[in-house]
Amino acid sequence: MRLVFIGPPGAGKGTQCKRLVELLKIPHLSTGEMLRTVKRQETALSRWVASYIDAGKLAPDHLVMRIVAQRLQSEECVNGALFDGFPRTIIQAQLLDDYLEEQGIQLDMALELKAVEDELIQRLLKRAQVDGRADDNYETIRERLHVFNTQTAPLTEYYASQGKLEQVDGMQSEELVFNAIRLCVDRHQPNN
Ligand code: AMP
Repeated sequence: MRLVFIGPPGAGKGTQCKRLVELLKIPHLSTGEMLRTVKRQETALSRWVASYIDAGKLAPDHLVMRIVAQRLQSEECVNGALFDGFPRTIIQAQLLDDYLEEQGIQLDMALELKAVEDELIQRLLKRAQVDGRADDNYETIRERLHVFNTQTAPLTEYYASQGKLEQVDGMQSEELVFNAIRLCVDRHQPNN
């Protein structure tokens, strides 16, 4: 199964993704993680990538697609993948659709985790204390939420028009969210 996980920062995507990849036995492709790995290297590319991450802005679409395509070519992705934090723009969604079509495959589902903005800010500030992520500071959090609302949220329309969108209330307990996600997954399993 191939699915896209959409949700604002702090909605609990990370936690739910971990449970979902265990359930579906597919790899977890987090572009945030991939870009942070690039950022840790001491290269011109890493400094360029860092300038986007540290400002809470989106890295360029084609760069992200190139990194994702490299991962998709690996053997582990043959039976599916969970895309976490990607696509983040309509252009990325189109690039992904084009890439998958070239390979003769397609996405099965886009899952949106819905959340209340004030709660997200509180959660992210708390995460900053635990994880020490450099982009979990108040200014960058505000910017990332703004970027989500303006550039990523329109993806729901994009996937709804393809009949692939499912929405789950991310403000419930972790268990209830996961149960709701499981029902969505059942509806979109490729062999159903
Ligand atoms: P995340 O871990 O998904 O919250 O991503 C952290 C940061 O990485 C984002 O604020 C962006 O700067 C960058 N990033 C992650 N995924 C993407 C993407 N699909 N497109 C552009 N930038 C991304």
